[in-house]
Amino acid sequence: MIPRILSVEKTAAWQRLLSQAITDAETLFHRLGLDTAKLPAALQAARAFRVMVPPSYLARMARGNPNDPLLLQVLPQAAEVAAQPPGYRRDPVGDDAASPQPGLIHKYHGRVLLITTGACAIHCRYCFRRHYPYAEASASPQQLQPTLDWLRQHDDIEEVILSGGDPLMLTDSRLDHLITALEDIAHIRRLRFHSRMPVVLPERITTTLLARIRRSRLKSIMVIHANHPAELDHSVANACQQMRDAGMTLFNQSVLLNGINNQPDVLEKLYKRLFSLGVQPYYLHLLDKVHGAAHFDIDEASAQRLYTEVCARLPGYMTPRLSREISGEGSKRILGFG
Ligand code: SF4
Repeated sequence: MIPRILSVEKTAAWQRLLSQAITDAETLFHRLGLDTAKLPAALQAARAFRVMVPPSYLARMARGNPNDPLLLQVLPQAAEVAAQPPGYRRDPVGDDAASPQPGLIHKYHGRVLLITTGACAIHCRYCFRRHYPYAEASASPQQLQPTLDWLRQHDDIEEVILSGGDPLMLTDSRLDHLITALEDIAHIRRLRFHSRMPVVLPERITTTLLARIRRSRLKSIMVIHANHPAELDHSVANACQQMRDAGMTLFNQSVLLNGINNQPDVLEKLYKRLFSLGVQPYYLHLLDKVHGAAHFDIDEASAQRLYTEVCARLPGYMTPRLSREISGEGSKRILGFG
């Protein structure tokens, strides 16, 4: 049975911060002192995928720098609405075909992914789910019961991955109910969060959430998403420390992004910084070929050469796996050195 969801919940500090997020291109240009010549194109691109930038992430950008690596991750650009090369699709990794239930994606042995919400604290322009039909395909409270029934019937599933959107956009109360429901299924042992919020809105890591994680029988894993060392300021470091103190195992996944992190110095610094925060570099993904994001892509041979150089600079335990997701394959494809 699905536990009752509290309808009235006090607004948390992170929700108040989120309510101050920038949600339009004009304000973004104005707040960062950007040349407005590119504003009309930005407004057009933002019609297809809205702008969303939380204040603490904005504060880490350099004012007046149109090439700031954090800005480029959230800035709508003309290239998004230009004709895309062949192979760019609205569903680049085959999520639709791998969904036995609305909001549930089952691709890999022993684990499933729940699309808990379509909401995010930030809109990353390269997001592979930028066209995902969240309205029909999220594990909403109404759709959760069939998902739980499906999980009960599949005793080979040991791990549930909460994804989205961003699962930490759910309130602590909603997460508490969801975790309780999953704990009730004996064969589930691990709970994994895929979230960008510890990086873009670290205030989301509340004491209530940490206390709930700490007392869960499920082993909790947090996979954060950082692409550039400038994202990892002291507030992110504090959030990581708190999550580790609550017993979570921390990993990071990054996307290799043209013009943002495709330099060996940047990746070397990123992985050293992550390791110093107690976060294990996990995956460096090649871009999923989603329609509207072709300008971020790097060809496979160049990515492999870059990866080889980064690996030569770092101890093995500090390097992620270079990977590409191929629609329909039973695991991510790990790419070798170039
Ligand atoms: S936070 Fe994750 S799901 Fe949300 S837009 Fe960014 S990459 Fe996509």
